[in-house]
Amino acid sequence: MTFKELGLNEGLQEALGYMGFEKATPIQEKAIPVILNKKDLLACAQTGTGKTAAFILPVLQLISESKPKEGSCDCLVLAPTRELALQIEQQIQAFSYFVDLTSKAVYGGGDGQEFEEQKRALTKGANIIVATPGKLISHLNMGYVNFSEIGHFILDEADRMLDMGFIEDIEKIASFLPKKRQTLLFSATFPPNIKKLAKSLLQDQEEISIAISKPAKGVLQVAYCVFDTQKDELIQRLIADKPNYKSIIIFSSTKKKVAQIVRSLRKVNGGIQAVSSDLDQSERELALRKFRSKETRIIVATDVLSRGIDVKDINLVINYDVPSDAEDYVHRIGRTARADTTGVAITLINEDDMYKFHKIERLIEMEIIKAPVFTDMGSTPAWNTKPKKRSGFQKKGGKGKRSKGNRNRR
Ligand code: AMP
Repeated sequence: MTFKELGLNEGLQEALGYMGFEKATPIQEKAIPVILNKKDLLACAQTGTGKTAAFILPVLQLISESKPKEGSCDCLVLAPTRELALQIEQQIQAFSYFVDLTSKAVYGGGDGQEFEEQKRALTKGANIIVATPGKLISHLNMGYVNFSEIGHFILDEADRMLDMGFIEDIEKIASFLPKKRQTLLFSATFPPNIKKLAKSLLQDQEEISIAISKPAKGVLQVAYCVFDTQKDELIQRLIADKPNYKSIIIFSSTKKKVAQIVRSLRKVNGGIQAVSSDLDQSERELALRKFRSKETRIIVATDVLSRGIDVKDINLVINYDVPSDAEDYVHRIGRTARADTTGVAITLINEDDMYKFHKIERLIEMEIIKAPVFTDMGSTPAWNTKPKKRSGFQKKGGKGKRSKGNRNRR
C-alpha cells in the first residue's frame, strides 16, 4: 500500500519520496489508519519493522492539522535509551521537513549547553519531545516543564523500559500529561507488567500485532556462553571439528571484528574471505561467487550479507556476537537450512550480550541449548538473563525500587 492510499498529506509524501520509502511496511499499514483516526493503540512490533515511521508519520499529520499553539509541546515520545531517542528524533526531522514542525531529543550525558537547550524546548515548546524517562524526570522535578498541551503520548520499546526499571518514572511522567490525549504503546513482547501498564494508560484502544519470522525448522541452534578472549579459539576448534562442513558463514556486527576474525582463522584455515562494506559491489559479488562454487570455504561478514542473499547448502552459521534484534538473528541463521535442508547455527554470547540473547529467545519463543565449551578452555561466564548493571552504580534502597543501573545502555 502507498502512503497516499493510507491518507498521509502531500508534505509527508514528499519527504517519504526523498527518503526512498515507496511502500508502507505491514506495521505502517495497520497502525497509520488507527492513529489518524485518533484512537489509542497497543502495538506489538520489533525494531526493523518500520515501527518508528508507523507512529511518527500520522502523529506529525495530526499535529499539523490541529494548528498547534505557539510554544506548546504537542507530543511526547518516551524511549529507553539515548541512542534510540536520537534515532527517533532524526527520523522526525527528516519526515517533518515539509510540514514545519519542531522536535527535540531530551536525554542524559550532554553538557550544560545541551541541558539549557533541552530546558528551552520544554518551556518554550518543541512540537515533539523525544525523551528517555530518567532525564525527563530530572527536568520535570525542576518545575518548569509545560506539558499542558500534550495531545499524543507514545511509549516506544515499552518492554525494554520496564526491564530497565522505569515503571515508576513512566507513571510519574504520565501524571504530568493531560487526561484527554492519544496514547500509543509499542512493545516487542507482552509480559504481564506491560499489560498492566497498558491498562492504566490506554483507553478503548485498538490492538495490532506484527508477527516476527521464525527460524526454519531444519536449523539446529546452539549457543556458547564465553568471554570475548575465548571466542577466537572456540571458533577455530569448532571449525576444525567439522571437516565435512564445506560452507561456513561467520557474522559479526562490525567491520573491525570481521578483519580480526579473518586474521585469527587464517592461521589455521585456508579458503577464508572477509565480506563487508569495505569491499565494493564487484569485489563482494566475486567473493560470493567463489563461496557459492565452494572455492572459498568460510566467509566472515557483517550484516550486509544477512538479508536476502541466497547461497545454497551452507552447513554452518556462526554468530560471533549476538545481533541487535531478533529479526537480524533470524535472517543470519536463515542462511543455513534453506529449502528444507538441515544446518547448524552457533551463537557466541559474552556476558554483555546475555540479556539481548534472552530477549531473542523470548521473541522467537524458543530456548536455545547452551552447550559447554571444550573442557581445557577454562571457566566461562554463567548464563544470566538479567539486564547488566552499569558498573559503579549505587543501587537505591527502598521498598519496590528497582535498579536503574542499565539506563541509557544499548
Ligand atoms: P524501525 O523499525 O522503525 O527501526 O525501522 C527500520 C528501518 O526501516 C529504518 O532504517 C527505517 O528508515 C526503514 N523504513 C521504515 N519504513 C520504511 C518503508 N516504508 N520503506 C523503506 N524503509 C523503511
